Amino acid sequence: MAIQRPKGTQDLLPGTVEQWQYLEETIRRVCRDYGYEEIRTPIFEATELFQRGVGQTTDIVKKEMYTFLDKGDRSMTLRPEGTASVCRAYVEDKLYGQSQPVKLYYTGPMFRYERPQSGRFRQFHQFGVEVLGADQPIVDAEVICLVWDLYQRLGLRGLEVHLNSVGCPTCRAAHREQLQRFLTTRKSELCQDCQERYERNPLRILDCKNPNCQAVTEGAPTTLDTLCDDCRSHFEKVLSLLSGAGVAYRVDPRLVRGLDYYTKTAFEVMVEEIGAQSAICGGGRYDGLVEEIGGPATPGIGFAMGLERVLAALQVQGKFPDTKPKLFAMLIALGDKAQNEGFAIMNALRGKGVPVRMDLLGRSLKAQLKAADREGAELALILGEEELERQVLLLRDLNSGEQTEVPLSKVIEVIYMKHQRGV
Ligand code: ATP
Ligand code: MG
Repeated sequence: MAIQRPKGTQDLLPGTVEQWQYLEETIRRVCRDYGYEEIRTPIFEATELFQRGVGQTTDIVKKEMYTFLDKGDRSMTLRPEGTASVCRAYVEDKLYGQSQPVKLYYTGPMFRYERPQSGRFRQFHQFGVEVLGADQPIVDAEVICLVWDLYQRLGLRGLEVHLNSVGCPTCRAAHREQLQRFLTTRKSELCQDCQERYERNPLRILDCKNPNCQAVTEGAPTTLDTLCDDCRSHFEKVLSLLSGAGVAYRVDPRLVRGLDYYTKTAFEVMVEEIGAQSAICGGGRYDGLVEEIGGPATPGIGFAMGLERVLAALQVQGKFPDTKPKLFAMLIALGDKAQNEGFAIMNALRGKGVPVRMDLLGRSLKAQLKAADREGAELALILGEEELERQVLLLRDLNSGEQTEVPLSKVIEVIYMKHQRGV
C-alpha cells in the first residue's frame, strides 16, 4: 500500500503555496513597517521549556504535545507554540542587554496532537509577535493595531477583536476567592475538568465551552469586577488608544488566558465565516513569563495567529490577488540545431531577468503555441531550421497576432527592451 501523510498534516501544493507566500509577504511588510524583527528558534526544544513556559495545567501540556526521547535520553518536544521559545532566546541570548523593548516576530509550523477537523490540524502554522521589556498600555495597543492593520491590508471583513483584562496576581487573588465563593454550592454541576480547575485554576472555568458550565457561571464575578487601580487604568488606556485608532473591539469579560503569568490585557480576534474554529488570533500580556523560565523580571506581550484559518477566511471572502507568475515569452525551437541556438538565447534572456521558457517534451509547433497561450505569454519566439539558415527569429505578438523577423544578432537586445517597456 502507498504510504500516506500523517493525520492532521497537509501537503501544500503549487497553486496553494502562492497564497501562503502572499500572506507571508504581507506579514513581513507589516512587521517591517512597525519595526518588528524576525527571530527563528528551533522546531524542537527541551520538554521542560513548555512545561514551565506554557504551563502544566494547560491542555497543550497535558494532552497535546509531541514529546519523545532523543538518542541521548533527553526529553524533547516539537514546539506547540512560539512564545516560550522566544522568551528562552531573550534570556539565553541576553536580548535584555540590548535597547528595550525588543520587538520580535516569527512564522512557522507548530505541532499539537489534537483531533483533526476543519481549521484544526496537528501540524499548523502561526505568525506571532512578542514585545519584551515594556509594560506601558501603548504597547498593548500597538500590538493589537498591528493585527488589525494586517487584516485591513489583506482586505478581510467581518472581524471582531474580543478584549479583556485578567488583572495582575494581586487583583487575581481577590477574584479567585470571589469566584470560588460564588461556585461553592454548585461545584458538582460542573464538568469533570472544571471540578479539577476549581482548586487549581478556577479562572479557566469562565472559559469552558461546556454549556452546563456556562450556565453555572452565568452572573459569576469576572476579573473586570476585581481589577486593582493600576490594572484598571492600564485597561482603560488600552481601550482609549484602540478607539482612537479605529479598531472595532468588544470587551468580553469571559475571555481568559488562565495561567498565573498572564496579566492584564487578553484578546482574541474572531471571524464568523470560517466555521466553528473562528478564532484566528489570540494574545495577551504575560508580565511573569520571562521570570518563570529563569530570566530577569521582564514584562511581555504578544499574540499568535493561525495562518490556515486566516487563509480560510481569505478564501471564503474571495480576497486572493492573482498570483500566477507571469511568463513573458515562449521560445519555440524546432529541430536539433535550433534547439541548441534557442537554448542559448533563452539563457541569455533569463540572465537579464526576462521570464522565458522552452518546451521540455519535444512537442509540435502547434502544441507549443497552445502552451504559450495557456501560460499567458506575451510573445512567441519561433526558431525553425529555415530561420536559423537565414540567421533570424520570428517574433509573434500573441495579443495582436502581428509577426516580425528579428536578426539573431539583435534578438537579446530587442526582447530585453520589449520586456523593459512591458510589451
Ligand atoms: P483553540 O481554542 O482554537 O484551540 P488555542 O487557544 O489553542 O485555540 P492559541 O494557542 O492561542 O490557540 O493559538 C493561537 C491561534 O493559533 C489560534 O487562535 C488559532 O488561530 C491557531 N491554532 C491553534 N491551534 C490550532 C490547530 N490545531 N490548527 C490550526 N490552527 C490552530
Ligand atoms: Mg487549542
